[in-house]
Amino acid sequence: MARVFVITGPSGVGKGTLIKHLLERVPELELSVSATTRGPRPGEEHGVHYHFLDPAEFDRRVANGAFVEHAEYSGRHYGTLREELDRRTAAGHPVVLEIEVQGARQVRTAMPEAVQIFIVPPSTDTLRQRLVGRGTDDEQQVASRLEVAVSELAAQDEFAYKVVNAELDAAVDELVDIVRREMVLA
Ligand code: ADP
Ligand code: 5GP
Repeated sequence: MARVFVITGPSGVGKGTLIKHLLERVPELELSVSATTRGPRPGEEHGVHYHFLDPAEFDRRVANGAFVEHAEYSGRHYGTLREELDRRTAAGHPVVLEIEVQGARQVRTAMPEAVQIFIVPPSTDTLRQRLVGRGTDDEQQVASRLEVAVSELAAQDEFAYKVVNAELDAAVDELVDIVRREMVLA
């Protein structure tokens, strides 16, 4: 059975950045494209970065059991489509899910064999700086994401692996090591 890697941690910690490097270093890995009801940011494409769904369509898919997990985050809905995951694992590809903590917990219950990795910021100040520096969220979104981050950080010990994203190259190396080790164990 192909491995499933859950990568979680607060918004702005660097999950997307780390995963981009991880996919370059471990090319057999595939990223599951999530669904969301939030609107696309500049440069984000439907079906590539997310499946952008309106709330009614998202709810319809929830009712149809189309999601492996789904959660509300900062006033929007996000979820992993079963089809996205199954298509890849059935083809033998190890898969990465980049999801928030509530979703990671649901995956832990549904798929205890999935490898769970929590990305930790060096400090909450650094997290704030990264969120603001990314420039994709307005002041209200930054505040809401930082508020959620407090409870997400409190959950970090639930996760099998923790990687501190201080220096990027070191964090990528650590992530690659974990993924390669777990792929051998699969
Ligand atoms: P997430 O996907 O967790 O929300 P991003 O990958 O979008 O986070 O990263 C948030 C911001 O922090 C981006 O501007 C990114 O370039 C920056 N960043 C990520 N990792 C590091 C790092 N190790 N050092 C400095 N900046 C980083
Ligand atoms: P963003 O709006 O910054 O793209 O994502 C906000 C949060 O939603 C991030 O913590 C991200 O990891 C999470 N997220 C993205 N896709 C999913 C998903 O499919 N399920 C869950 N539960 N969270 C997701």
